[in-house]
Amino acid sequence: MAEDPRDWGLATRLVRGGLARSPHGETAEALYLTQSFVYDSAEAADARFAGDEPGYVYSRYGNPTVKMFEDRLALAEGAELCRATASGMAAVHLALCGLLRAGDHVVSGKAVFGSCRWILNNWAPRFGIEATLVDAPDLAAWRAAVRPDTKVFFLESPANPLLEICDIAAICQIAREIGAKVVVDNVFATPIFQSPLTLGADVVVYSATKHIDGQGRVLGGAVLGDAALLEEAYRDLIRHTGPAMSPFNAWVLLKGLETLDLRVRRQSVTAALLADRIAAHPRVKDCRYPGRPDHPQAAIAARQMTGGGTLLAFDLGSRAAAFRFLGALEVLDIANNLGDAKSMATHPSTTTHRAVTEEERLEIGLTQGWVRLSVGLESEADLARDIERALDAC
Ligand SMILES: *Cc1c(COP(=O)(O)O)cnc(C)c1O
Repeated sequence: MAEDPRDWGLATRLVRGGLARSPHGETAEALYLTQSFVYDSAEAADARFAGDEPGYVYSRYGNPTVKMFEDRLALAEGAELCRATASGMAAVHLALCGLLRAGDHVVSGKAVFGSCRWILNNWAPRFGIEATLVDAPDLAAWRAAVRPDTKVFFLESPANPLLEICDIAAICQIAREIGAKVVVDNVFATPIFQSPLTLGADVVVYSATKHIDGQGRVLGGAVLGDAALLEEAYRDLIRHTGPAMSPFNAWVLLKGLETLDLRVRRQSVTAALLADRIAAHPRVKDCRYPGRPDHPQAAIAARQMTGGGTLLAFDLGSRAAAFRFLGALEVLDIANNLGDAKSMATHPSTTTHRAVTEEERLEIGLTQGWVRLSVGLESEADLARDIERALDAC
């Protein structure tokens, strides 16, 4: 009996999934750094363009290294199909555009990544698509926002930057009742700790730039879901608008997937320990970590996530205190990236959420005292010492 990769454990799928060796039998995945492909004859080119013969024609449509990345991530996610994109935002844009047309309406959580909010508020209206933003943990708000023309629900959980969590299964149920599709941005939870497709989502999007690379090198993104839906909604859009991932980036991200399970679990263990120490510090007004029992949506987190993740946020009460904290750090970097091997601290109000208005920031509870921490792979003792020294300094 041949092994079915879908039956493998997650760690095995992440290391071996999608591997398609060339006749040379290389151990590492081959990097097909090529734009296009040649044909044995005009007849062969004719057949390949007609779709009568399998094979690649142009790397904007597909590429063998990118395909290995897509197949590996699809296996990890338990999705039928994955399409890779040049960045996480290309994935979100593609995911929404392929499901929407003029006259359609989207309901989205308020607390979503800044650029996603920009697409909904500033870009979609140009094409006659309206969005209503709701307080995502409030199920009644999703129901109340539904209109006859609602076609898509968009959500992020845990959400940036304050780790707000919403009940994905319950929101998917509301969407099913009205025939809308659900797109979930699963960047913060990662494929290791949360599987939106099993909770009822139709499409999952990732910024592979974050944990999937995890070592600060390349941008990438992905859209995952059922093959029929992805083919119908995205195949031609990908071919003709060109959000394709570079084969080089796909190769880097394939190697990232091999260590994803190990890295994310280790980072999450350290994040949980640091969250407890930070929450206990007298200067800290509030500390949010999905794995802590005092998280506002701890019960939902326990139901739909298998780990707390690598991110936490805490409130120091004022922008001055937050800046003193950041200024006193010696080991952690001040940076707005996340999911990296290097731990990073950021002040969301002046960086990632700068483009969001003050009023919108207050709606999601983001006051000037909040600091977001992405926990990396350094020794826990060094991170704890650095953070506690910086907290003492504010
Ligand atoms: C980073 C991020 C994105 C965008 O990804 P890029 O790769 O930077 O384009 C989208 N959603 C979330 C939650 C993110 O953290």
